[in-house]
Amino acid sequence: MSSTGDTLRLRESGYVSKRTGTRWMVVIGLEVHCQLKTRTKLFCGCEYRFGAEPNSITCPKCTGQPGALPVLNREALALAVRTALALGCEVKEKSKFDRKHYFYCDLPKGYQISQYDQPYCTGGGIRLAHGKFVRLTRIHMEEDAGKAIHDRGDKTLVDLNRASVPLIESVTEADIESAAEATEYLASFKEIVQYCGASDCDMEKGTLRCDVNISVRLAGEPLRTKVEIKNLNSFRFVAAAIEYETARQVEAYESGDPAQFPVQETRLWDPNLGVTRTMRSKESAHDYRYFADPDLPPIRIDRAFIERERSSLPELPASRRERYESAMGLSAKDARVLTAERVVADFFEACVRLGGKAKDCSNWIQNELFCMVGDAEINAATFDEIQIRPHDLVSVLELIEKGVIQGNAGRTLLRAIVKTGRNAKSLVTELGLEQVQDTLQIETWCREALVGKDKIIADVKSGKPNALNALFGPVMKASGGKANAQVVRETLQRLIEEM
Ligand SMILES: [Zn+2]
Repeated sequence: MSSTGDTLRLRESGYVSKRTGTRWMVVIGLEVHCQLKTRTKLFCGCEYRFGAEPNSITCPKCTGQPGALPVLNREALALAVRTALALGCEVKEKSKFDRKHYFYCDLPKGYQISQYDQPYCTGGGIRLAHGKFVRLTRIHMEEDAGKAIHDRGDKTLVDLNRASVPLIESVTEADIESAAEATEYLASFKEIVQYCGASDCDMEKGTLRCDVNISVRLAGEPLRTKVEIKNLNSFRFVAAAIEYETARQVEAYESGDPAQFPVQETRLWDPNLGVTRTMRSKESAHDYRYFADPDLPPIRIDRAFIERERSSLPELPASRRERYESAMGLSAKDARVLTAERVVADFFEACVRLGGKAKDCSNWIQNELFCMVGDAEINAATFDEIQIRPHDLVSVLELIEKGVIQGNAGRTLLRAIVKTGRNAKSLVTELGLEQVQDTLQIETWCREALVGKDKIIADVKSGKPNALNALFGPVMKASGGKANAQVVRETLQRLIEEM
């Protein structure tokens, strides 16, 4: 798509005021925080675990005791650099950490260690499906704060386990123009970070959090006042908050009363009421009194370190989708489903390398393996936890293709493999899943199924082949699902014709 056509289409898609019919443009920038999947925190040796006993994972460094000296975690730096490379950013050879000062009960130091004017990387971005490129301004590293828990009656509790857990914060340019573009960008961002192994990006556990900066304007106008909506923890909330806030701002401007116009502020999304509410007026950078952290030396990232991280990058989802469609002949939908999680994409590719047909592997992964996640008998909360190797799925598919077992028996077999951890061949015999090829036996089942079915028989004879399906089921059932389906159909047809 040409960029002009693209821009025109998006202009068309702005927000149309219900009251006046005026078309408004929506201007959105996103700030996304990801918790890096390191063993230890950003500046100390504490091993963070989600859900641990409150305040059980702390030390003098992460609780900001006087005299405790922070030391940068190299693993966090490596994951941050890898993510930057995957997003096409320019990694800086020199950057630094700054202190961002503010007072809150979950921040005992009185400042957060972050990066202000010299982030470790700039530039980069993500291309959306319709061709638009959403630019990243920068990504910086910072430590998380602890957690204040307000819902315990009249008390506020403080848990410092999360204090100093490593984060990367990515900031986009204001290139996004709708809720749909925002959610597509986020989904793509999340996929890329997960593929890099840098973060779980689990919004429920708070390892991916999103702030939205949003304003509206009329075409050709300069930017108007932007409002920040903080701490959105699901894609659905991001979309709903953008839609609500767009309508609120447009209504405020169209009221014509400057007292009602949007002001620069931070708002929170209330998912119960479906509205945004004022949290506080927005701080400016000078309110934080940033200065270089004197306890931490400047960060130097040499070329060798960058190249090492670059060489450890996996093939990214967009490239895999392209390959699945062009080289393997899968549909765009299949390619998208298979690449949404790296474990699934890796499993699928391993099956194909072992000789599985791409379309069959794709179908069986989506129809059978996905259903096992959360199945009470299987005990797997995620795809990763299903006890199966690519070799197992390929063996089942081969047995079906060679006619040793039926498709239905294949499903039974696959579940048995997952439940017992044993191999396909030994289970086929033990479970008696081999296909029945014995035509005499099949004919006996067919004759039994035809008894008293005169109406169906008449239908088939009068040229309604679909009527046969009503007989096919009972025969397969009588055979325990093991009769050769082709032989059953042929036998039923022949017996009816002979009647
Ligand atoms: Zn610590």
